[in-house]
Amino acid sequence: MFKFSQVSKLASLLSMVFATPFVNAQQAEFEPWQKAEITEIWQPVPAVVNTAPQQPPSDAIVLFNGNNLSEWQALKGGDAQWTVKNGTLTVKPGNGDITTKREFCDIQLHFEWQTPMPSGDMQGQQRNNSGIFLQQRYEVQVLDSYNNPTYSNGQAGSIYKQTMPLVNASRAPGEWQVYDIIYQAPRFEGEMRSSPGYVTVLHNGVLVQNHTQIQGTTEWIGAPKNLAHGCAPLQLQDHGNLVSFRNMWVREL
Ligand code: MG
Repeated sequence: MFKFSQVSKLASLLSMVFATPFVNAQQAEFEPWQKAEITEIWQPVPAVVNTAPQQPPSDAIVLFNGNNLSEWQALKGGDAQWTVKNGTLTVKPGNGDITTKREFCDIQLHFEWQTPMPSGDMQGQQRNNSGIFLQQRYEVQVLDSYNNPTYSNGQAGSIYKQTMPLVNASRAPGEWQVYDIIYQAPRFEGEMRSSPGYVTVLHNGVLVQNHTQIQGTTEWIGAPKNLAHGCAPLQLQDHGNLVSFRNMWVREL
């Protein structure tokens, strides 16, 4: 009879024996004269991006810096008329959505948002709703989801009516919240979608969408649509509530 310790030693020896060919195969790809340098890549060199606390990265396009709406226009046409005050941008209810003047494809987007204290009768989707439409089609929901039940795929951090957030990272009304969004636009060949869009969302630094596949346009009612399109503006939603934004910038990828 073998003792347990002997069996253990034998198993260890066998694992070394059988592991050896694999190790040798790995080593065979690198001759002794080949140094570690062979796996070093020196060209090209990543571009330098300067960063500082609370500042946009040096290569970002600033969409709202607290002063004006020069990067925005009204969806219905003409100048954007939302309220700029004390370094923040606030929805002007009834004025309609606003869109960036620029068009974007793949992006990294950063902004902060705040919902005001709700009145008692504001529940669910009516409690300070807004949203950011990527390429004017795909909404990442902005909503007061702090102790505010609604359908899960319509709460803050959801891809509206498609994918609920992984967790609810909402802060209380009146507090500023942060979205960091990484968006890969869908690809089209002719009229056919050859690759869906994908989106990653961090809400207050917490991952809530992890490379989520976008099914198509985020419709309030009806199935997602996938009509071919090119680069397109970002769009902020006027849902009739006094939702505010600040420190908004985007990096093209
Ligand atoms: Mg919305």
